[in-house]
Amino acid sequence: MTNKKVDILHVLFDNVTQKEMLVVLMNRVKKNKKTFVVTANPEIVMYANEHQEYMHLLKQANFITADGIGIVKASKIMSTPIVERVAGYDLMLDLFKEAHLLEKSIYLLGAKQEVIEATAKKIETELPGIQLVGYENGYFELSDEIVMRNVLKTNPDMVFVGLGFPKQEKWIEHYLQLADKGLVMGVGGAFDAYTGKVKRAPDCFIKMNLEWFYRLVKQPSRLMRMRVLPKFLISVYVESKNQKKRR
Ligand code: UDP
Repeated sequence: MTNKKVDILHVLFDNVTQKEMLVVLMNRVKKNKKTFVVTANPEIVMYANEHQEYMHLLKQANFITADGIGIVKASKIMSTPIVERVAGYDLMLDLFKEAHLLEKSIYLLGAKQEVIEATAKKIETELPGIQLVGYENGYFELSDEIVMRNVLKTNPDMVFVGLGFPKQEKWIEHYLQLADKGLVMGVGGAFDAYTGKVKRAPDCFIKMNLEWFYRLVKQPSRLMRMRVLPKFLISVYVESKNQKKRR
């Protein structure tokens, strides 16, 4: 595995395929090693560059995968190409399957009550016997110790946290300080996608790298958030030019 870190605007991405990432993560789960996984897109990178305390949180992560074709494109512009996109959603589904296979326990945290209930139901139907030790919706204050204690009590092997950024990374960092073990991964809106509340793009859109366009048409409210993309690409171009000058 060529696990060299690739620097995109000061965020260090793991240059791995999805399969490689899965193997590495499961090896750590088997050894009960605490693991903080971030799946980062251009929005997260830009946010981190504007918020030092969030950048500091990202530095605590063991792995940061390239979630979104924008990151893969940026890595090419920087002349340090990342092998492939590792979408948080797909990685989450792979980890569910591994947890089922190896009898590892999972906890689901995040999204609206009806979404997290539907997620739990769907997992138990698709992967019968999976050790789902708990779930909880994501509408609580970060200072709320009850949610934290509830998850800690079940001591899960994996926790999937879909609170959106930066809330999910803040929660994860605090959780891992208190927990004995656990792979903990921020999954954004993945529970909504899993239960069909938000439709994932058809395969042809994903293959053509147009998933972002599909999501935009389906959820026009994302337009405001997507305005960050051109700004991101310009910043990457500028950084790449500066780097070449420094060499
Ligand atoms: N969410 C939550 N608690 C909050 C705010 C948001 O659980 O206080 C959930 C929200 O219901 C959604 C997810 O966090 O399921 C954020 O989804 P979004 O599409 O913004 O994330 P992305 O996939 O783009 O990172």
